[in-house]
Amino acid sequence: MSFAELGLAPEIQRAIEELGYSQPTPIQAAAIPKVLTGRDLLAAAQTGTGKTAAFMLPILERLKKFANSSASPAMHPVRALILSPTRELADQIAVNVAAYTKYLPLRHVVVFGGVNMDPQTEALRRGVEIVVATPGRLLDHVQQKTIHLNRVEMLVLDEADRMLDMGFINDIRKILGLLPKNRQTLLFSATFAPEIKKLAEDFMHSPELVQV
Ligand code: AMP
Repeated sequence: MSFAELGLAPEIQRAIEELGYSQPTPIQAAAIPKVLTGRDLLAAAQTGTGKTAAFMLPILERLKKFANSSASPAMHPVRALILSPTRELADQIAVNVAAYTKYLPLRHVVVFGGVNMDPQTEALRRGVEIVVATPGRLLDHVQQKTIHLNRVEMLVLDEADRMLDMGFINDIRKILGLLPKNRQTLLFSATFAPEIKKLAEDFMHSPELVQV
């Protein structure tokens, strides 16, 4: 199985070739075709398996039709939201997004707490298709109306078990309630405790399952 066989655009293939990815990891081979269909996905995967690319590459493939180099913020609504438990992980995801979008005019910002909100607000004001965020700071931006989530088409809950362990369940439910119902939801977790299953039941539509 190659990345070309997975049906990824040449712009994406070129970017991952430059990163030295020669073939998909098992989670990527299993998840990418499923995400490309538009279905919800429940994936059991540990860090280090290549799960970031497993959700990010098909998201970019699905968003590439919106790629444009317009300067107008209205042309760059938030279409994909990736929620992550910690700022380190969010930052790591954003580094990957930057590399994967090298040849696609899709914009992103990473939003986490403990730092000044202004640069994040400025990036959001200019318009971004992809937001990588920790839940608390995302809700701060929602409250200040510096982010609008009404155009989100794809949501990723990354390391969902860790987000719950860190006490983010209420924030996550609040955020889920703000998103359009007609969206694709991808949930990645190392473990599937009852609380995660409940979240999936409440907020996902007959998800495809992937376990590696
Ligand atoms: P992750 O599990 O997403 O944190 O990824 C772990 C590491 O594997 C990161 O450094 C990725 O850049 C790298 N990686 C992801 N996919 C591949 C691939 N198909 N081939 C080689 N390295 C990869």
